[in-house]
Amino acid sequence: MTKTCLKCGKNFDEKEIDDPAADKFPSCIECWNEWKKYAIMVMNEMRLDMSMPEHRKALRKYERMFFGLEKPEGEFQKNPDQKT
Ligand SMILES: [Zn+2]
Repeated sequence: MTKTCLKCGKNFDEKEIDDPAADKFPSCIECWNEWKKYAIMVMNEMRLDMSMPEHRKALRKYERMFFGLEKPEGEFQKNPDQKT
């Protein structure tokens, strides 16, 4: 089945995607790989710990912003542990 990538707007065949996590958004393999790289960078930079719900939530927010589902907000905190 052909889908339209949320990020770049290209059509792609969903059979190309073998990562079950990619099911959340229609994303072509290029953009998905780009997101995965970006996610690792974010996790390192923000020292996100995927065993902590708050940190997983923070990463999901980045994911939604990456795919354009959410606009960056002023209240968004760089480090979920830190109160500004
Ligand atoms: Zn794409």
